[in-house]
Amino acid sequence: MPLLIIQDDITRLDCDAIVNAANNSLLGGGGVDGAIHRAAGPKLLEECRTLHGCDTGDAKITSGYNLKAKHVIHTVGPIWHGGENGEKELLASCYRRSLELAVKNDCSTVAFPMISAGVYGYPFDQALDVAVTTIGAFIDSYESDLTVFLVIFSRRDYRLDPDLISGLNRYIDNRTPKLKVNRSFMGAAARCASHKDEVIMEMADYSCTPIEEFVSSRIDESFTQMLLRKIDEKGMTDVECYKKANVDRKLFSKIRSNLSYHPKKRTALGFAVALKLDLNETKDLLMKAGYALSDSSKGDLVVQYFIENKIYDINKINEVLFAMDQEIIGEY
Ligand code: ADP
Repeated sequence: MPLLIIQDDITRLDCDAIVNAANNSLLGGGGVDGAIHRAAGPKLLEECRTLHGCDTGDAKITSGYNLKAKHVIHTVGPIWHGGENGEKELLASCYRRSLELAVKNDCSTVAFPMISAGVYGYPFDQALDVAVTTIGAFIDSYESDLTVFLVIFSRRDYRLDPDLISGLNRYIDNRTPKLKVNRSFMGAAARCASHKDEVIMEMADYSCTPIEEFVSSRIDESFTQMLLRKIDEKGMTDVECYKKANVDRKLFSKIRSNLSYHPKKRTALGFAVALKLDLNETKDLLMKAGYALSDSSKGDLVVQYFIENKIYDINKINEVLFAMDQEIIGEY
């Protein structure tokens, strides 16, 4: 039941439900509300008329009509008046009430826009924080299969915590000399390559152990085995672990039942964060699946930064990865 931040136009999504940032009348408006009504067609307004409005912080559900989504959940976010007028509680309530309606209506995929972050003036970073925290808490508390998309319309809206960004930039800058070392190592490797014929001839002189014997004597703990061992060692339940890893239940059972399961790198990283592994343990877990952390990859450096600073909040990590145009971690 993961939370995924994506960039898209919410009206195009093929989800069980999309959420509308509506106003109290529920009779349509500008921004995302106008876009949803245009895409759904006039029948949506007809049904909305029967609902007799909606309180701020509450939510109501309708059909999706011409949308790909089966349902539209209309919620009314607070207008920003400086933050001292219960805005945060009301905004959190919008997410909670909408998710409750989604679960009640058997939705397994639901997409939210950034409620209140447009005309209603809620500062984007604070609105994002409320969205991620509230959806995250809901996901943790519900034992149900629901994938939640948080849809960012424009990356230009995206402003991350400046302290986090400067810490991250310092971290990445400090790694630059290492990149230089790596480049000169590559030069040395290229020079060695010219002697490869000699190396192959030398190898041919060795008498060989039968291949099956060699493999069975050397084969190490698999990714799945290490994952299950770590879950036990950390005293976690499977559910706690896959939720914190942003991985859904079906995929986790697939991994659990296949000792030689080969995960994607982003899935393995999701588990490393869920298990609060340190950097060396993370590298070990990745290696079990044939991966490494590379200082040449911005995404890998972001994950390393969080792990080294013991910030094991996958949603926070994914916010930063998303903002930096890198693949988010976990899998759905
Ligand atoms: P509010 O009145 O609650 O602030 P707005 O519609 O003005 O609602 O904006 C809410 C958020 O929805 C803003 O971040 C805006 O960029 C975004 N938005 C606008 N159109 C779309 C769309 N088609 N899909 C997804 N998000 C959208």
